[in-house]
Amino acid sequence: MSIVSVNPATNQELKSFEALSKDEVLSAIERADQAFQSWRKTSFAERKQCLLDVAAQLRSRSDEYSRLISRDMGKRISESEYEIEYCANISEFYANGAESFLADEPMEVEGVDAYIQYTPLGVLMGVMPWNFPFYQVIRFATPNIMAGNTVMVKHASNVPQCAQAIEDLFHDCGLPTGVYTNLFIPSEFVETIISDSRVQGVSLTGSEKAGAAVAAVAGKNLKRSVLELGGNDPFIVLEDADLDSTIELAVQGRMVNAGQSCVASKRFIVVEPVAERFLEGFKEQLSQMKLGDPLDEDTTLSPLSTEQAAVKLQQQVQSAIDAGATVLLGGDRPDREGAYFNPTILTDVTPDAPTFDQELFGPVATVYVVKDEAEAIELANHSSFGLGGSVFTQDNQRGRRVAEQIESGMVFINQPTKSQAELPFGGIKNSGYGRELSHLGILEFVNKKLIHAG
Ligand code: NAP
Repeated sequence: MSIVSVNPATNQELKSFEALSKDEVLSAIERADQAFQSWRKTSFAERKQCLLDVAAQLRSRSDEYSRLISRDMGKRISESEYEIEYCANISEFYANGAESFLADEPMEVEGVDAYIQYTPLGVLMGVMPWNFPFYQVIRFATPNIMAGNTVMVKHASNVPQCAQAIEDLFHDCGLPTGVYTNLFIPSEFVETIISDSRVQGVSLTGSEKAGAAVAAVAGKNLKRSVLELGGNDPFIVLEDADLDSTIELAVQGRMVNAGQSCVASKRFIVVEPVAERFLEGFKEQLSQMKLGDPLDEDTTLSPLSTEQAAVKLQQQVQSAIDAGATVLLGGDRPDREGAYFNPTILTDVTPDAPTFDQELFGPVATVYVVKDEAEAIELANHSSFGLGGSVFTQDNQRGRRVAEQIESGMVFINQPTKSQAELPFGGIKNSGYGRELSHLGILEFVNKKLIHAG
């Protein structure tokens, strides 16, 4: 079986990689377990140097890595460059911070001499998506490697060039064999890996379906898991919002990565007094987006990751229309080669429409007009997802009050949800559990061990 990279801008095959056999996977687990026995004993200073080298190499070879991202899954080149720079930041953040995040923690209990020690668990499995093919892997791998764990990654099957480049990157930067392993495998092999007694936990970023399948296997085998799943983030616009900047940020929030981000703003919930002006400005800006080759700097909207993704989005949009939605803009695919989708605005999507509670993973915005703040909050929470969210108002106190009532893992006031190395990232409800990034991200796969000394 082969794992194939296809350029979504042309649907042309670029490169293929041979998948591993089950025996080869078992050997890889053994190497990762062996590597753990020595990696766990290395000093923070040694691990830190490796990850600072990773950050430096990401920067020095940014052009090459960015082009791989853009070719494998169609991201605009400037966004690919940003992703690589962000990966360098995350590597530095954990390289520099891990020792203090994992320092022994004395317990403040009267009459007790005790502390918590943070120790690594062993081999971890990562199952990663294609939408930010470097970032997702770096976000999982770097804290865990700094904590002394070893990691194996099954990357999404449409980004094999990125998957190979990431393994080479860690190897070039001096990580011993087995500390980071890329596994070219079909998803059916994941169960075998999680069930293996040498593997201590699994982190999956992806769809609800994949998350539920992996969590079930992890549960059956009593393994720890972290799930970062989909989102349907609300973007609430209140009547006192600065509309010009709000509209600009709405475009950015929805169109990041051609709309294929878990924390993209997806449901625009606008109060009546400003709805008409918001819709007019939003439509005006979205209609000016320029579809084109991801490597062309003038392109503002690139293709979706694969032809199948574009076909699926078209079906979702059609089912919304069939259920009574109004198409204010787009709604279809352009007449050109590649996995492109036109910028789209849907209104009148009712709760009984099948798409109401589905994630639309592409350049499709759904706009809801509501009476007031209370109705906006109610609609925002009417979702099985709970990843991020935003509220726009010039009254900061009001923004906090609304943010505190939104059921999600993250809420941003006057900006779309974003990710930053220093800030925790993750969701609730069907968006998953656990946190990545920040000091919390490094605590997911460590033993928080109590030492009681009297
Ligand atoms: P996906 O189909 O779930 O794939 C994600 C990964 O899981 C891939 O490596 C895939 O392998 C693997 N996989 C799929 N089914 C599996 C199974 N039954 N057992 C084991 N592994 C399995 O998701 P996607 O379409 O690539 O990614 C988009 C989704 O990820 C969206 O829902 C998005 O919101 C979510 N996401 C969430 C976050 C977050 O941090 N919360 C970040 C980014 C994306 P194959 O490629 O071989 O199928």
